[in-house]
Amino acid sequence: MLNVADARARILAIFTPVDTVNLSIAKLGGRVLACDITAKTDFPIFDNSSVDGFALQISDISGALPASPCTLQVTADIRAGTYSGVPIHSGQCVRIMTGAPLPPGANAVVMVEDTDFNERSKGSTAPQAVAVFKPLQPGENVRRRGDDLHAGDKVLSSGTRLRPQEVGLLAMLGLPEAPVYRLPKVALLSSGDELLPVEAPLTPGKIHDANSFILAALSESAGVELIRLGVASDTETDVRSRLLRAIDEKADVIISSAGVSMGAFDYVKSVVEADGELDFWKVNMRPGKPLAFGKYHGIPFFGLPGNPVSAYVGFEVFVRPALEKLSGQTPRLHPSQKARLAEPVESDGRESYLRAIVTEEQGHLSARLTGHQASGNLLSLVQANALLIVPSGVKSLPASSEVQIWLIE
Ligand code: AMP
Ligand code: MG
Repeated sequence: MLNVADARARILAIFTPVDTVNLSIAKLGGRVLACDITAKTDFPIFDNSSVDGFALQISDISGALPASPCTLQVTADIRAGTYSGVPIHSGQCVRIMTGAPLPPGANAVVMVEDTDFNERSKGSTAPQAVAVFKPLQPGENVRRRGDDLHAGDKVLSSGTRLRPQEVGLLAMLGLPEAPVYRLPKVALLSSGDELLPVEAPLTPGKIHDANSFILAALSESAGVELIRLGVASDTETDVRSRLLRAIDEKADVIISSAGVSMGAFDYVKSVVEADGELDFWKVNMRPGKPLAFGKYHGIPFFGLPGNPVSAYVGFEVFVRPALEKLSGQTPRLHPSQKARLAEPVESDGRESYLRAIVTEEQGHLSARLTGHQASGNLLSLVQANALLIVPSGVKSLPASSEVQIWLIE
């Protein structure tokens, strides 16, 4: 049986990024950038004031004190958004607002609070002269051109998922649009004669379909367009006709749950085998051993286990990195952290992803299981904030052992 790392490597090997589209900046949040971005200008674009005050020459105020201020002539009033190319000379200064360009000749800005003109009522005009109460260092309260970044600097890399701050940076650089990868199309299928839609009243032997909602929300968190194939009954015909819709809709990947283990009516696996190819259908892990991967009519296919917790874990371990690669990102393993076990933990030697609650105790993370670990027990996943990883080959870990965890909040 394949181990987790080998299965993941085989999966990732067949995915390549989807194609790209140009989108206007208002639509870029959450999308994956498809080119490197290089700054065309320095930033700040010009030397400017970081405070409301007076731009001056520090040599004029070297001895300034509240008891013996230095008085300067005010020659101009520079508001944000305006520009004065008139140089200031010794004995002069200009009133300046935050973000306004520093005039030639000035080398620092004194804050209004450190002058006798602490007057900021709306629309107030600049005084004729101002008394300055303290000396300044060269460059004090000045944001220099290029302090943050220089023209020619690479500021964003292709494959970056654009958070609000990256979108802001693109706007700051004056880019009204950017190329991004289009959203991958993910076709979702649940299967099983026992499944009823969530709205339907239960009848004997039936349960509500939970996986559709778990896998839809997980897929959406990875940034995709969903194609909902619904719930297939346990017949070859229904499974096939729903999977064929994924082809019609040009899905980039199919994710199904259930119907891939050894049951007499597990048709998903056999239909994929008949119409496509299965690369593997078992992984040496817990939960989630019956996990099929292959291609259906050429489209990558994940057959996740039916039990909701197994489907969730299978998604996080295998599907999420594949969706990252498909969407143009560099797939990365879930960031893991170290925690100490608050109690002994048993496993069966398979690489295990156990539901745990991790808390901070005396400066380290402490982990305990959230309940029994049967793979149908979705409540224990709800109560968990981490998956606790027991490596392959390990059957028991005493309390205080150090383990790897994935935070899942
Ligand atoms: P199977 O892989 O078809 O043997 O299903 C394994 C278990 O998962 C069975 O107990 C199913 O009833 C359950 N199951 C399958 N699909 C779903 C689903 N969509 N929502 C909730 N439970 C499911
Ligand atoms: Mg079934």
